[in-house]
Amino acid sequence: MSTPNFSPYVPIPDGAFLRQCIHCGLCLSTCPTYALTAREISSPRGRIRMMKNVAEGTMPLTETFMHEMFFCLDCRACETACPAGVQYGALVEAARAQVEHARALQTGESSQLKKFILRQIFTKPARLRFLARLLRFYQWSGLEKLALWLRLPRIFGKKMMALAPMAPRIEAKFTFARLPEKISPRQGKVRHRVALLVGCVQDVAFASVNEDTAAVLAANGCEVIVPRHQACCGSLHGHTGDAEDAKMLARKIIELFEAVEVDAIIVNAAGCGSFMKAYHHLFADDPALHRRAENFAAKVKDLSEYLVEIGFKQPPQTLSDCATYHDACHLVHGQKVARQPREVVRAVAGANYVELNEASWCCGSAGIYNLTHFETSMQLLERKMKNIVATGAKMVVTGNPGCAIQLQHGCRQFGVSIEVVHPATLLRRAYERMGGI
Ligand code: SF4
Ligand code: SF4
Repeated sequence: MSTPNFSPYVPIPDGAFLRQCIHCGLCLSTCPTYALTAREISSPRGRIRMMKNVAEGTMPLTETFMHEMFFCLDCRACETACPAGVQYGALVEAARAQVEHARALQTGESSQLKKFILRQIFTKPARLRFLARLLRFYQWSGLEKLALWLRLPRIFGKKMMALAPMAPRIEAKFTFARLPEKISPRQGKVRHRVALLVGCVQDVAFASVNEDTAAVLAANGCEVIVPRHQACCGSLHGHTGDAEDAKMLARKIIELFEAVEVDAIIVNAAGCGSFMKAYHHLFADDPALHRRAENFAAKVKDLSEYLVEIGFKQPPQTLSDCATYHDACHLVHGQKVARQPREVVRAVAGANYVELNEASWCCGSAGIYNLTHFETSMQLLERKMKNIVATGAKMVVTGNPGCAIQLQHGCRQFGVSIEVVHPATLLRRAYERMGGI
Protein backbone atom coordinates (compact mmCIF):
# COMPACT_ATOMS: atom_id res chain seq x y z
CA MET A 1 0.00 0.00 0.00
CA SER A 2 1.44 3.41 -0.92
CA THR A 3 0.86 6.00 1.76
CA PRO A 4 0.27 9.40 0.08
CA ASN A 5 -0.85 11.42 3.09
CA PHE A 6 1.56 9.91 5.62
CA SER A 7 5.13 11.13 5.95
CA PRO A 8 7.89 8.63 5.05
CA TYR A 9 10.13 10.18 7.73
CA VAL A 10 8.37 8.67 10.76
CA PRO A 11 6.69 5.27 11.34
CA ILE A 12 3.69 4.62 9.07
CA PRO A 13 0.64 2.54 10.11
CA ASP A 14 1.31 -0.88 8.62
CA GLY A 15 -0.72 -1.45 5.44
CA ALA A 16 -0.98 -5.20 6.11
CA PHE A 17 -2.55 -4.58 9.55
CA LEU A 18 -4.90 -1.99 8.06
CA ARG A 19 -6.08 -4.44 5.40
CA GLN A 20 -6.58 -7.14 8.05
CA CYS A 21 -9.56 -5.27 9.52
CA ILE A 22 -12.77 -6.84 8.16
CA HIS A 23 -14.97 -4.18 9.78
CA CYS A 24 -16.89 -6.79 11.74
CA GLY A 25 -17.36 -4.46 14.72
CA LEU A 26 -16.63 -7.13 17.35
CA CYS A 27 -14.20 -4.72 19.00
CA LEU A 28 -16.75 -1.94 19.50
CA SER A 29 -18.22 -3.15 22.79
CA THR A 30 -14.74 -3.37 24.34
CA CYS A 31 -13.73 0.19 23.46
CA PRO A 32 -13.99 2.71 26.33
CA THR A 33 -14.01 5.79 24.06
CA TYR A 34 -16.76 4.30 21.90
CA ALA A 35 -18.74 3.48 25.05
CA LEU A 36 -18.45 7.12 26.13
CA THR A 37 -19.32 8.73 22.80
CA ALA A 38 -21.19 6.14 20.70
CA ARG A 39 -19.42 7.71 17.68
CA GLU A 40 -17.95 5.47 15.00
CA ILE A 41 -14.88 7.70 14.61
CA SER A 42 -14.10 7.16 18.31
CA SER A 43 -14.13 3.38 17.86
CA PRO A 44 -11.26 1.09 16.80
CA ARG A 45 -13.01 0.32 13.52
CA GLY A 46 -13.56 4.02 12.81
CA ARG A 47 -9.98 4.92 13.62
CA ILE A 48 -8.64 2.13 11.43
CA ARG A 49 -10.90 3.31 8.59
CA MET A 50 -9.50 6.84 8.98
CA MET A 51 -5.90 5.57 8.97
CA LYS A 52 -6.64 3.59 5.80
CA ASN A 53 -8.22 6.63 4.12
CA VAL A 54 -5.21 8.81 4.97
CA ALA A 55 -2.83 6.09 3.78
CA GLU A 56 -4.75 5.78 0.50
CA GLY A 57 -4.85 9.53 0.00
CA THR A 58 -8.66 9.82 0.11
CA MET A 59 -8.53 11.85 3.33
CA PRO A 60 -6.01 14.47 4.47
CA LEU A 61 -4.50 14.33 7.93
CA THR A 62 -7.27 16.42 9.50
CA GLU A 63 -7.72 17.87 12.97
CA THR A 64 -10.36 15.18 13.57
CA PHE A 65 -7.84 12.48 12.72
CA MET A 66 -5.26 14.07 15.02
CA HIS A 67 -7.75 14.37 17.86
CA GLU A 68 -8.98 10.79 17.53
CA MET A 69 -5.52 9.23 17.57
CA PHE A 70 -4.89 10.81 20.97
CA PHE A 71 -8.45 10.51 22.28
CA CYS A 72 -7.84 6.76 21.94
CA LEU A 73 -6.41 5.38 25.19
CA ASP A 74 -4.09 2.90 23.43
CA CYS A 75 -5.53 0.42 25.94
CA ARG A 76 -5.57 -2.29 23.24
CA ALA A 77 -8.79 -3.88 24.49
CA CYS A 78 -9.85 -3.93 20.83
CA GLU A 79 -6.80 -6.04 20.01
CA THR A 80 -7.86 -8.73 22.47
CA ALA A 81 -11.37 -8.74 21.01
CA CYS A 82 -10.36 -8.76 17.34
CA PRO A 83 -10.91 -12.10 15.58
CA ALA A 84 -8.78 -10.99 12.61
CA GLY A 85 -5.67 -10.35 14.71
CA VAL A 86 -5.37 -6.64 13.91
CA GLN A 87 -2.37 -5.22 15.79
CA TYR A 88 -4.14 -2.05 16.79
CA GLY A 89 -1.48 -0.87 19.28
CA ALA A 90 1.20 -0.78 16.57
CA LEU A 91 -1.21 1.05 14.25
CA VAL A 92 -2.20 3.79 16.66
CA GLU A 93 1.36 4.36 17.88
CA ALA A 94 2.54 4.84 14.27
CA ALA A 95 -0.46 7.11 13.60
CA ARG A 96 0.48 9.17 16.66
CA ALA A 97 4.03 9.55 15.35
CA GLN A 98 2.51 10.87 12.11
CA VAL A 99 0.34 13.32 14.04
CA GLU A 100 3.27 14.60 16.08
CA HIS A 101 5.32 14.99 12.89
CA ALA A 102 2.50 16.86 11.12
CA ARG A 103 1.97 19.14 14.13
CA ALA A 104 5.67 19.93 14.29
CA LEU A 105 5.61 20.83 10.57
CA GLN A 106 2.52 23.02 10.98
CA THR A 107 3.52 24.89 14.12
CA GLY A 108 7.21 24.17 14.56
CA GLU A 109 6.36 22.39 17.80
CA SER A 110 4.58 19.31 19.03
CA SER A 111 2.52 19.60 22.23
CA GLN A 112 4.52 21.85 24.59
CA LEU A 113 3.50 20.15 27.83
CA LYS A 114 4.16 16.70 26.45
CA LYS A 115 7.45 17.76 24.91
CA PHE A 116 8.64 19.24 28.17
CA ILE A 117 7.63 16.27 30.30
CA LEU A 118 8.85 13.53 27.98
CA ARG A 119 11.91 15.07 26.38
CA GLN A 120 13.30 17.28 29.13
CA ILE A 121 12.56 15.05 32.12
CA PHE A 122 12.01 11.42 31.17
CA THR A 123 15.06 11.04 28.93
CA LYS A 124 17.37 12.28 31.71
CA PRO A 125 17.37 10.14 34.87
CA ALA A 126 19.44 12.63 36.92
CA ARG A 127 17.01 15.43 36.12
CA LEU A 128 14.00 13.21 36.88
CA ARG A 129 15.45 12.23 40.26
CA PHE A 130 16.35 15.84 41.09
CA LEU A 131 12.81 17.01 40.30
CA ALA A 132 11.40 14.07 42.25
CA ARG A 133 13.43 15.17 45.31
CA LEU A 134 12.05 18.71 44.97
CA LEU A 135 8.55 17.27 44.67
CA ARG A 136 9.13 15.16 47.78
CA PHE A 137 10.25 18.24 49.73
CA TYR A 138 7.11 20.07 48.55
CA GLN A 139 4.93 17.12 49.57
CA TRP A 140 6.44 16.44 53.00
CA SER A 141 7.32 19.97 54.16
CA GLY A 142 3.69 21.03 54.39
CA LEU A 143 4.03 23.30 51.34
CA GLU A 144 1.71 21.10 49.31
CA LYS A 145 -1.04 21.24 51.94
CA LEU A 146 -0.69 25.00 52.16
CA ALA A 147 -0.68 25.42 48.35
CA LEU A 148 -3.80 23.28 47.97
CA TRP A 149 -5.53 25.05 50.86
CA LEU A 150 -4.76 28.40 49.21
CA ARG A 151 -5.76 26.87 45.84
CA LEU A 152 -2.48 28.14 44.34
CA PRO A 153 -2.36 25.61 41.43
CA ARG A 154 -5.34 27.56 40.05
CA ILE A 155 -2.81 30.19 38.88
CA PHE A 156 -1.83 27.66 36.18
CA GLY A 157 -5.46 27.04 35.23
CA LYS A 158 -8.46 25.01 36.42
CA LYS A 159 -6.95 21.84 35.04
CA MET A 160 -3.82 22.19 37.17
CA MET A 161 -5.99 22.62 40.28
CA ALA A 162 -7.64 19.29 39.49
CA LEU A 163 -4.37 17.56 38.62
CA ALA A 164 -2.31 18.77 41.59
CA PRO A 165 -3.63 16.24 44.14
CA MET A 166 -2.84 13.42 41.71
CA ALA A 167 0.94 13.83 41.89
CA PRO A 168 2.44 10.50 42.97
CA ARG A 169 3.91 10.37 46.49
CA ILE A 170 7.69 10.40 46.12
CA GLU A 171 9.57 7.91 48.25
CA ALA A 172 12.45 8.93 50.56
CA LYS A 173 14.97 6.61 48.91
CA PHE A 174 15.07 5.62 45.26
CA THR A 175 15.90 2.13 44.02
CA PHE A 176 19.69 2.32 43.78
CA ALA A 177 19.86 3.56 47.40
CA ARG A 178 17.78 0.55 48.50
CA LEU A 179 19.18 -2.26 46.39
CA PRO A 180 22.79 -3.35 45.78
CA GLU A 181 23.85 -4.27 42.26
CA LYS A 182 23.48 -7.97 43.06
CA ILE A 183 21.02 -9.64 45.44
CA SER A 184 21.46 -13.33 46.25
CA PRO A 185 18.93 -15.72 47.81
CA ARG A 186 19.24 -15.76 51.60
CA GLN A 187 18.52 -19.50 51.71
CA GLY A 188 19.26 -22.30 49.28
CA LYS A 189 21.26 -22.17 46.12
CA VAL A 190 20.88 -19.91 43.10
CA ARG A 191 18.39 -21.52 40.69
CA HIS A 192 17.88 -18.59 38.30
CA ARG A 193 19.70 -15.42 37.36
CA VAL A 194 17.60 -12.40 36.43
CA ALA A 195 18.01 -8.66 35.82
CA LEU A 196 15.56 -6.07 37.13
CA LEU A 197 14.29 -2.98 35.31
CA VAL A 198 13.89 -0.19 37.87
CA GLY A 199 11.81 2.09 35.60
CA CYS A 200 11.43 5.86 35.83
CA VAL A 201 8.15 6.59 37.67
CA GLN A 202 8.52 3.24 39.43
CA ASP A 203 12.00 4.24 40.63
CA VAL A 204 10.99 7.50 42.31
CA ALA A 205 7.39 6.86 43.35
CA PHE A 206 7.40 3.09 43.89
CA ALA A 207 11.00 2.23 44.80
CA SER A 208 9.59 0.05 47.58
CA VAL A 209 7.87 -2.04 44.89
CA ASN A 210 11.25 -2.58 43.23
CA GLU A 211 12.63 -3.61 46.62
CA ASP A 212 9.70 -6.01 47.13
CA THR A 213 10.21 -7.41 43.62
CA ALA A 214 13.87 -8.17 44.30
CA ALA A 215 13.00 -9.73 47.69
CA VAL A 216 10.30 -11.96 46.18
CA LEU A 217 12.59 -13.09 43.38
CA ALA A 218 15.42 -13.83 45.82
CA ALA A 219 12.99 -15.80 48.00
CA ASN A 220 12.33 -17.93 44.93
CA GLY A 221 15.96 -18.81 44.32
CA CYS A 222 16.85 -15.97 41.96
CA GLU A 223 20.07 -14.02 41.93
CA VAL A 224 18.89 -10.52 40.99
CA ILE A 225 21.10 -8.12 39.07
CA VAL A 226 20.10 -4.44 39.21
CA PRO A 227 22.11 -2.74 36.44
CA ARG A 228 23.11 0.83 37.34
CA HIS A 229 22.60 3.86 35.03
CA GLN A 230 19.16 2.75 33.84
CA ALA A 231 17.04 5.42 32.16
CA CYS A 232 13.38 5.29 31.06
CA CYS A 233 12.63 2.34 28.75
CA GLY A 234 10.99 4.70 26.22
CA SER A 235 7.46 3.37 26.59
CA LEU A 236 5.96 6.76 27.48
CA HIS A 237 7.60 8.20 24.35
CA GLY A 238 6.64 5.31 22.07
CA HIS A 239 3.03 5.22 23.22
CA THR A 240 2.65 8.95 22.58
CA GLY A 241 4.20 9.12 19.13
CA ASP A 242 7.76 10.24 19.93
CA ALA A 243 9.42 7.49 17.91
CA GLU A 244 12.92 9.03 17.87
CA ASP A 245 13.31 9.35 21.65
CA ALA A 246 11.71 5.94 22.13
CA LYS A 247 14.36 4.38 19.88
CA MET A 248 17.19 6.24 21.57
CA LEU A 249 16.05 5.08 25.02
CA ALA A 250 15.39 1.51 23.84
CA ARG A 251 18.88 1.28 22.39
CA LYS A 252 20.40 2.38 25.73
CA ILE A 253 18.39 -0.20 27.68
CA ILE A 254 19.34 -2.98 25.24
CA GLU A 255 23.05 -2.11 25.50
CA LEU A 256 22.91 -1.97 29.30
CA PHE A 257 21.11 -5.29 29.77
CA GLU A 258 23.15 -7.07 27.09
CA ALA A 259 26.14 -6.63 29.37
CA VAL A 260 24.68 -9.03 31.96
CA GLU A 261 24.18 -12.78 31.45
CA VAL A 262 20.70 -13.56 32.71
CA ASP A 263 17.81 -15.98 32.12
CA ALA A 264 15.19 -13.23 32.17
CA ILE A 265 14.72 -9.47 32.41
CA ILE A 266 12.04 -8.82 35.01
CA VAL A 267 9.69 -5.89 34.65
CA ASN A 268 7.11 -4.97 37.29
CA ALA A 269 5.43 -2.13 35.37
CA ALA A 270 2.98 -3.29 32.70
CA GLY A 271 3.45 -0.40 30.28
CA CYS A 272 7.23 -0.84 30.27
CA GLY A 273 7.03 -4.63 29.86
CA SER A 274 4.61 -4.38 26.97
CA PHE A 275 6.82 -1.89 25.15
CA MET A 276 10.06 -3.78 25.82
CA LYS A 277 8.58 -7.04 24.54
CA ALA A 278 8.08 -5.24 21.22
CA TYR A 279 11.44 -3.40 21.05
CA HIS A 280 12.36 -5.18 17.80
CA HIS A 281 9.50 -3.44 15.96
CA LEU A 282 11.27 -0.13 16.59
CA PHE A 283 14.32 -1.29 14.63
CA ALA A 284 12.67 -2.86 11.58
CA ASP A 285 15.00 -0.82 9.31
CA ASP A 286 18.22 -1.83 11.10
CA PRO A 287 18.78 -5.62 10.74
CA ALA A 288 21.64 -5.85 13.28
CA LEU A 289 19.83 -3.94 16.00
CA HIS A 290 16.57 -5.67 15.12
CA ARG A 291 18.16 -9.04 15.89
CA ARG A 292 19.64 -7.79 19.17
CA ALA A 293 16.28 -6.26 20.13
CA GLU A 294 14.54 -9.56 19.35
CA ASN A 295 16.94 -11.47 21.63
CA PHE A 296 16.42 -8.86 24.33
CA ALA A 297 12.62 -8.89 23.98
CA ALA A 298 12.50 -12.68 24.25
CA LYS A 299 13.92 -12.40 27.78
CA VAL A 300 11.48 -9.77 29.05
CA LYS A 301 8.98 -11.14 31.58
CA ASP A 302 6.40 -9.54 33.77
CA LEU A 303 7.11 -10.39 37.42
CA SER A 304 3.96 -12.50 37.92
CA GLU A 305 4.49 -14.22 34.58
CA TYR A 306 7.99 -15.25 35.65
CA LEU A 307 6.98 -16.30 39.16
CA VAL A 308 4.37 -18.67 37.76
CA GLU A 309 6.82 -19.95 35.15
CA ILE A 310 9.39 -20.93 37.80
CA GLY A 311 6.74 -22.29 40.20
CA PHE A 312 6.82 -19.68 42.97
CA LYS A 313 6.90 -20.70 46.62
CA GLN A 314 3.33 -20.82 47.93
CA PRO A 315 2.78 -18.35 50.78
CA PRO A 316 0.33 -18.87 53.65
CA GLN A 317 -3.16 -17.53 52.90
CA THR A 318 -2.99 -14.57 55.21
CA LEU A 319 -5.55 -11.98 54.12
CA SER A 320 -8.51 -11.63 56.42
CA ASP A 321 -10.24 -9.01 54.21
CA CYS A 322 -11.35 -9.35 50.61
CA ALA A 323 -8.91 -8.48 47.83
CA THR A 324 -9.57 -7.91 44.16
CA TYR A 325 -7.42 -7.49 41.05
CA HIS A 326 -7.45 -4.77 38.38
CA ASP A 327 -5.87 -5.71 35.03
CA ALA A 328 -3.47 -3.07 33.72
CA CYS A 329 -4.28 -2.70 29.98
CA HIS A 330 -0.70 -3.22 28.91
CA LEU A 331 -0.48 -6.41 30.92
CA VAL A 332 -3.78 -8.04 29.94
CA HIS A 333 -4.13 -6.70 26.38
CA GLY A 334 -0.53 -5.73 25.58
CA GLN A 335 1.13 -8.86 27.01
CA LYS A 336 -1.86 -11.25 27.34
CA VAL A 337 -0.90 -11.83 30.98
CA ALA A 338 -4.11 -12.23 33.00
CA ARG A 339 -3.97 -15.63 34.71
CA GLN A 340 -0.58 -15.30 36.42
CA PRO A 341 -1.18 -12.18 38.55
CA ARG A 342 -4.48 -13.70 39.68
CA GLU A 343 -2.59 -16.84 40.71
CA VAL A 344 -0.32 -14.69 42.85
CA VAL A 345 -3.22 -12.81 44.45
CA ARG A 346 -5.23 -16.01 45.01
CA ALA A 347 -2.21 -17.68 46.61
CA VAL A 348 -2.29 -15.01 49.33
CA ALA A 349 -6.00 -14.19 49.50
CA GLY A 350 -7.44 -17.70 49.08
CA ALA A 351 -11.22 -17.61 49.45
CA ASN A 352 -11.02 -13.88 50.12
CA TYR A 353 -10.21 -13.20 46.48
CA VAL A 354 -13.11 -11.61 44.65
CA GLU A 355 -13.11 -11.06 40.89
CA LEU A 356 -13.67 -7.48 39.75
CA ASN A 357 -16.47 -6.72 37.30
CA GLU A 358 -14.93 -5.19 34.12
CA ALA A 359 -11.46 -5.91 35.54
CA SER A 360 -9.83 -5.35 32.13
CA TRP A 361 -11.66 -2.07 31.38
CA CYS A 362 -9.18 0.85 31.36
CA CYS A 363 -9.05 2.90 34.59
CA GLY A 364 -8.25 6.07 32.61
CA SER A 365 -4.59 6.29 33.54
CA ALA A 366 -3.23 5.22 30.13
CA GLY A 367 0.29 6.66 30.28
CA ILE A 368 -0.17 10.43 30.46
CA TYR A 369 -3.84 10.32 29.39
CA ASN A 370 -4.93 11.67 32.78
CA LEU A 371 -2.80 14.74 32.06
CA THR A 372 -3.86 15.22 28.45
CA HIS A 373 -7.55 14.17 28.68
CA PHE A 374 -8.39 14.79 32.31
CA GLU A 375 -12.20 14.78 32.08
CA THR A 376 -12.41 11.54 30.08
CA SER A 377 -9.85 9.95 32.37
CA MET A 378 -11.98 10.84 35.42
CA GLN A 379 -15.13 9.42 33.78
CA LEU A 380 -13.31 6.12 33.31
CA LEU A 381 -11.97 6.24 36.86
CA GLU A 382 -15.48 6.73 38.23
CA ARG A 383 -16.70 3.62 36.40
CA LYS A 384 -13.71 1.65 37.70
CA MET A 385 -14.17 2.85 41.29
CA LYS A 386 -17.86 1.90 41.31
CA ASN A 387 -16.89 -1.63 40.29
CA ILE A 388 -14.13 -1.80 42.90
CA VAL A 389 -16.37 -0.52 45.70
CA ALA A 390 -19.06 -3.06 44.69
CA THR A 391 -16.66 -5.95 45.42
CA GLY A 392 -16.43 -4.98 49.09
CA ALA A 393 -12.65 -5.46 48.82
CA LYS A 394 -10.31 -3.67 51.21
CA MET A 395 -7.41 -4.13 48.81
CA VAL A 396 -7.03 -3.78 45.05
CA VAL A 397 -3.97 -5.35 43.48
CA THR A 398 -2.54 -4.05 40.22
CA GLY A 399 0.78 -4.36 38.37
CA ASN A 400 1.36 -0.92 36.87
CA PRO A 401 2.47 2.35 38.52
CA GLY A 402 0.14 4.48 36.36
CA CYS A 403 -2.90 2.41 37.40
CA ALA A 404 -1.78 2.52 41.05
CA ILE A 405 -1.57 6.34 41.00
CA GLN A 406 -4.96 6.59 39.27
CA LEU A 407 -6.68 4.14 41.65
CA GLN A 408 -5.15 5.80 44.73
CA HIS A 409 -6.61 9.08 43.47
CA GLY A 410 -9.95 7.33 42.90
CA CYS A 411 -9.98 6.05 46.48
CA ARG A 412 -9.38 9.57 47.81
CA GLN A 413 -12.06 11.02 45.52
CA PHE A 414 -14.60 8.39 46.57
CA GLY A 415 -13.60 8.67 50.22
CA VAL A 416 -13.03 4.92 50.49
CA SER A 417 -10.36 3.17 52.47
CA ILE A 418 -9.06 0.63 49.96
CA GLU A 419 -5.35 -0.10 49.76
CA VAL A 420 -3.78 -0.24 46.29
CA VAL A 421 -1.00 -2.81 46.24
CA HIS A 422 1.43 -4.30 43.72
CA PRO A 423 1.53 -8.15 43.50
CA ALA A 424 5.21 -8.03 44.61
CA THR A 425 4.29 -6.21 47.81
CA LEU A 426 1.41 -8.56 48.53
CA LEU A 427 3.62 -11.61 48.13
CA ARG A 428 6.53 -10.17 50.11
CA ARG A 429 4.25 -9.39 53.06
CA ALA A 430 2.92 -12.96 52.97
CA TYR A 431 6.43 -14.44 52.81
CA GLU A 432 7.47 -12.29 55.76
CA ARG A 433 4.59 -13.70 57.80
CA MET A 434 6.02 -17.14 56.99
CA GLY A 435 9.02 -16.18 59.08
CA GLY A 436 11.21 -14.00 56.92
CA ILE A 437 12.55 -14.29 53.42
S1 SF4 B 1 -7.00 1.07 22.10
FE1 SF4 B 1 -8.71 1.18 23.57
S2 SF4 B 1 -9.56 3.25 23.32
FE2 SF4 B 1 -8.25 2.87 21.54
S3 SF4 B 1 -9.62 2.07 19.96
FE3 SF4 B 1 -8.79 0.26 21.04
S4 SF4 B 1 -10.27 -0.19 22.67
FE4 SF4 B 1 -10.70 1.89 21.92
S1 SF4 C 1 -12.71 -6.58 15.63
FE1 SF4 C 1 -10.85 -6.40 14.38
S2 SF4 C 1 -11.53 -6.84 12.30
FE2 SF4 C 1 -13.37 -6.41 13.49
S3 SF4 C 1 -13.71 -4.20 13.21
FE3 SF4 C 1 -12.52 -4.42 15.08
S4 SF4 C 1 -10.39 -4.21 14.40
FE4 SF4 C 1 -11.62 -4.61 12.56
